[in-house]
Amino acid sequence: AQNGSVRKRGPNILLTGTPGTGKTTTSSALAEATQLRHIIVGDLVKEKNLHDGWDDQLDCYLINEDLVCDELEDLMEEGGNIVDYHGCDFFPERWFDRVVVLQTDNTVLYDRLSRRGYTGSKLSNNIECEIFQVLLQEAKESYPEDIVVALKSDTIEDITRNVASLTDWVGSWHPAS
Ligand code: ADP
Ligand code: MN
Repeated sequence: AQNGSVRKRGPNILLTGTPGTGKTTTSSALAEATQLRHIIVGDLVKEKNLHDGWDDQLDCYLINEDLVCDELEDLMEEGGNIVDYHGCDFFPERWFDRVVVLQTDNTVLYDRLSRRGYTGSKLSNNIECEIFQVLLQEAKESYPEDIVVALKSDTIEDITRNVASLTDWVGSWHPAS
């Protein structure tokens, strides 16, 4: 079938934000509430070797963006996905119906990332990324402004509220004919 000629089984949501803002926690709860498929891009990259090796300086895999997009294309065309990743500028714009950017107060985030074992420049780079709203800027530059939404993710109550409002949004979503 050609692009766009088949009705999607559900919307595609991109959940992005600085590491530690709660993407995986929020996406898991949302997937459970909506039956959408949760795709943790970082895990997929490791499992299917969609990278060009380990970056010692950044202390993470060097993701191969083309391989990731090829791997996801069919699933995204089918629809009904929650894509969980701390980046958003290399996915095709047409994939997503909603782009959610989670944001966390930087002192709260500092504690979360320290608890996760981040130290030194890995810790400070991520805090800086959050302070300068890098992911929100990236989302606004990569997607239509009316599908991008920033949500606060400081507390458990925030997660509950975000999952509830996104679940409502999924429930009222209708495929474009
Ligand atoms: P990400 O996937 O964005 O890196 P996670 O979902 O793995 O973030 O969350 C990182 C840690 O912070 C986890 O221990 C999680 O329980 C906690 N956490 C995330 N969001 C919140 C929140 N809104 N309130 C309280 N704890 C949170
Ligand atoms: Mn995660």
